[in-house]
Amino acid sequence: MPFNPPSWVPQLPFDPPDSIPICDFILDERFGRHPLGYSHSPFTCGLTGKTYSSLDVKERVDYLARGLAKELGFHPNKGSEWDKVIAVFSVNTLDTLPLAWATHRLGGIQSPANAAYSTDELVYQLKNSNAKALFTCVPLLETARAAAKQSGIPENCIYILEVPSQLTGGKGSPDGLKTVDDLIREGRKLDRLEALSWASGDGAKKTAFLCYSSGTSGLPKGVMISHRNVISNTMQIATFEKPFRDKMINDLRNQSDYTENVLGLLPMSHIYGLVVICHASAYRGDGVIVLPKFEFASTLQAIQDYKINSLFLVPPIIILMTKNPQMLAKYDLSSVWALFTGAAPLGQETAEDVQKMFPSWKIRQGYGLTETCTVVCSTSPEDVWFGSSGSILPGIECKIVSIEGNEITGYDQPGELLVKSPAVVLGYLNNDKANMETFQDGYMRTGDEAVIRKGPSGHEHVFIVDRIKELIKVKGHQVAPAELEAHLLTHPAVNDCAVIQVPDEKSGEVPKAFVVKSPSVGLEENERVLAREIQKHVEKAKARYKWIAGGVEFIDEIPKSPSGKILRRFLRDKEKEKRRKA
Ligand code: AMP
Repeated sequence: MPFNPPSWVPQLPFDPPDSIPICDFILDERFGRHPLGYSHSPFTCGLTGKTYSSLDVKERVDYLARGLAKELGFHPNKGSEWDKVIAVFSVNTLDTLPLAWATHRLGGIQSPANAAYSTDELVYQLKNSNAKALFTCVPLLETARAAAKQSGIPENCIYILEVPSQLTGGKGSPDGLKTVDDLIREGRKLDRLEALSWASGDGAKKTAFLCYSSGTSGLPKGVMISHRNVISNTMQIATFEKPFRDKMINDLRNQSDYTENVLGLLPMSHIYGLVVICHASAYRGDGVIVLPKFEFASTLQAIQDYKINSLFLVPPIIILMTKNPQMLAKYDLSSVWALFTGAAPLGQETAEDVQKMFPSWKIRQGYGLTETCTVVCSTSPEDVWFGSSGSILPGIECKIVSIEGNEITGYDQPGELLVKSPAVVLGYLNNDKANMETFQDGYMRTGDEAVIRKGPSGHEHVFIVDRIKELIKVKGHQVAPAELEAHLLTHPAVNDCAVIQVPDEKSGEVPKAFVVKSPSVGLEENERVLAREIQKHVEKAKARYKWIAGGVEFIDEIPKSPSGKILRRFLRDKEKEKRRKA
C-alpha cells in the first residue's frame, strides 16, 4: 500500500487541465484563480517598486509573443516545440515569467539556465537544448555573448531583459540588441496571433520548460516539464494550502480578499523559484516581490517595505539569519508569518534557532525535485515538526522501497522514496537510459532515502534522511559529481578522481575531490601547491558554487565496484569517520 496524503488534505477540486497552456490556467479565473481582477499585481520589483498588474502581464505576454513570432519566425501552430526553444540566462526579472508565457503562446519551450553559469556551462545547455534565441541581462551579457557565439546563436537572436539600474551601474542596453520592451513595442503594431489549436491531452505531452538536473547520476540532463506538470503542482500546492488560507481569512485577518506578498528572491531558473514561488503565487493571487539576487540588507529592506508575509528560502540563507540577529533587529519583519524552506535539508537546530528568534513564525519545510515539478510534501502550519518535510500533497502517492527492492509499508524504516503524481515530468531529453532508470511503473525514483513517521498530531510525516544518488547540493544548487570528475580528469596531474559531498556550515554541503596523481607528477611536488592548482583548474571553468571548497585529498586508488562504478558511499563513510574523530 502506498502512502497517501493525510485525511485533512482536501482532494484536488478537478482534474488538472491537459489542453491549455500554463498561462491560461494561471491568469484565467475560470480555473480557480483567486478572483482579484486585473488591477492586482502579481510581480513587483523589490528594489525599484516597478510593478505589473495582471492586465499588464496579459498584454505583455500577448504583444511579446507577436514580436517574437516576427523576429524568430515562430508560428503558434507550425513546427515542433523543439524548434522553438528559447533559453534564458538572467537574474530574476519582472519579465521572466511573461517571457515564458509568451514563448508558450507560440508553442515554444523556455529553457532557463543558472545565472551563475560560466561560459562553458551555458554552452552545454544551449547546445543540448538546441536553443534558437537567448534572453539575458546586461550584467551577464559578456558570458551570454561568448556562449551564444560558441553555440551558433547569432548576435541578433540575443535579447535583453531589464534589470534595476543598481545592477548595471546605469549602463543601458548595448546598441544593436533588442530589449523585451522593444519587442513589445513592435508586437503592438502587429496582427493578433492565431490561437493555439491544441487537442485534448496536448498540454500533458508538450514540454513547457526544459530545466537541467543531473537526476540520480551522470551529467546535467534536460528535464522535460509539460504544461500539465506545472498546472498540476500549482493546483496541488493551492489545494494543500487552502484550509490555512481559509483559516487565515476567518481567524487572523478577517479579510475576505486576503492575499499575500511573498519573497521572490530564489532563482526563477530553478524549479522551486519557477513553480512554487512564481506560478503557485500568481495563481493564488499573491504578489511576488522580485529580487534579482541575494543581498542581505536589500532583502530585509524589501520584506519591511513590501510587508512580505511568506519567506521562501533555502537553508544557507536561514543559517545566515540565525547568525546575524543584530542585522535582523534593524528591520520591521512583523508582516512575516511563515518561513518556507526547501531544495536541501534544514537542520533541526537551525529551525529551533529561528523559532526562538521569531516565536510567532511558522517554520515550514517542503521537499521536491525538478523531476516532480517541485513539491511532493510540505509541512502544514498546523502540524510543524522540525526535521520533517511534512505531509504528502493531494494527488500524490509515495512508496518507500528497500535496497533489495521490497516495498516498505511500516513506519520508521528507511528506503528509497518513489513518487507518483500528475506533476512527475515527461522525462529526460534524449536519454533513454536515465529515463528507464528513473521512471518505472508510473513512479519516479527520487534517489533520496526517506522514512515515514507518525507525528505527535497522529498524521504521517515524510522525513528525508539521506541521499542515495550522486548529487551534491550547494546552497540548494545542484552539483553533479560526474561533471566535476570529467573536468578534473582534464588536468595533467589527475590520473583518476572521485568527488563527494562534505558538510559545510554555510553552504550545507560542498564538493571534495579525491585524486590519484598521474605518474608524471614528481615525488618532490608539494601536495598543498598541487591541490590548490587543481582547485583553480575548476575555478577557471565552473560556476562558483561548484568549486572544490571541501578540498583535494590525494589517495592511491579510487575505490570502485567490479563493474568500475565509483564506491562513493565508501568514501563518504570514511570521510564521516575522519570528521567524527577530528
Ligand atoms: P532539485 O531538482 O535541484 O530541486 O534537487 C532535488 C533534490 O534536492 C532532492 O532529490 C533532494 O536530494 C534535495 N532536497 C530537496 N528538498 C529537500 C528537503 N526538504 N530535504 C532534504 N533534501 C531535499
